[in-house]
Amino acid sequence: MIIRLHTANRSQIQPLLDYVQQHSPYCKWNEVTRTLVAPKLSMDEGLAAFTELGEFIEIDTPYQLASIKAKAETVITIKGESIGGNNFTLMAGPCSVENEEQVFATAALLQQLGIKFIRGGAYKPRTSPYAFMGLGKKGLQILSAAAKAYDLRVVTEIMDLSLLDEVAEHADILQVGSRNMHNFYMLGELGKINKPVLLKRGMQAKVTEWLLAAEYILSGGNANVILCERGIRSFDPETRNVLDIGVIPLIKELSHLPIIADPSHGTGKASRVESLSLAATAAGAHGLLIETHPNPAQALSDSQQALSFESLSALVHQLKASIPTPMSV
Ligand code: PEP
Ligand code: MN
Repeated sequence: MIIRLHTANRSQIQPLLDYVQQHSPYCKWNEVTRTLVAPKLSMDEGLAAFTELGEFIEIDTPYQLASIKAKAETVITIKGESIGGNNFTLMAGPCSVENEEQVFATAALLQQLGIKFIRGGAYKPRTSPYAFMGLGKKGLQILSAAAKAYDLRVVTEIMDLSLLDEVAEHADILQVGSRNMHNFYMLGELGKINKPVLLKRGMQAKVTEWLLAAEYILSGGNANVILCERGIRSFDPETRNVLDIGVIPLIKELSHLPIIADPSHGTGKASRVESLSLAATAAGAHGLLIETHPNPAQALSDSQQALSFESLSALVHQLKASIPTPMSV
């Protein structure tokens, strides 16, 4: 149950807070939003005595604030560009920031295509410790300089809380990668800041687990979460991952949070990114996160799935022709 109190007057609300605490010991009270989240609590005689104090919303899923019952729609506006609702948002860029030339060439292309968000990893989660790990701080500086020059917003990954201040200084959206979706302590801390978070689905995560990961951020007080379906792991090495198209309409039934798709990690192969982009868009995604590189064969990470600039341009033109809603492109 979510209880939104009309007043913050402590003497008025304390008896209710005490009652809820007794019956739902792990409830969470947010003083700023005057919201009390008490999972598993339902309306009973005891609670009925307090109904005049606020709005009581019964929610029968383990996630509460992420539920569609909590809110009709979340629209997140970043430097004038809105994500969610009727907007369709493209985010594109390299898997990893490699050098200035690469990022500035990409940024120039994005501006030309009308794309407002540049993605790129400066700190990379790599399977092998012998792989390219990203340029770190230098990479963040390159990204934000290119974003400034071409009026873009930066999406980049936060791998570890020790890097939060540094990454947040340069990022407009903090990406939580698939491998970190279960990093609950980090999610909780991201709830305490007011930067939007792009939360990728864990490669083995069930939908409820994913929405509960979002709940960690929301319950900390950060309402700006964007979900990103990036494919789940299957038994078949022929596809890197299986982009779960069906989860897009499902998330829209269950939650008010914007849901975008990452067809690049979702298939792992550049030749299939276009098909999956169109499929995810047709399924109702609020946007796409796509990897591109000026010279895909030379990319230092995820080279197989990076679109060439020509392919990205062709895809964007196709999307523009097929999407009826207002686009951020
Ligand atoms: C990425 O976006 O480059 C990335 C590492 O994604 P994921 O966490 O989905 O593997
Ligand atoms: Mn990648």
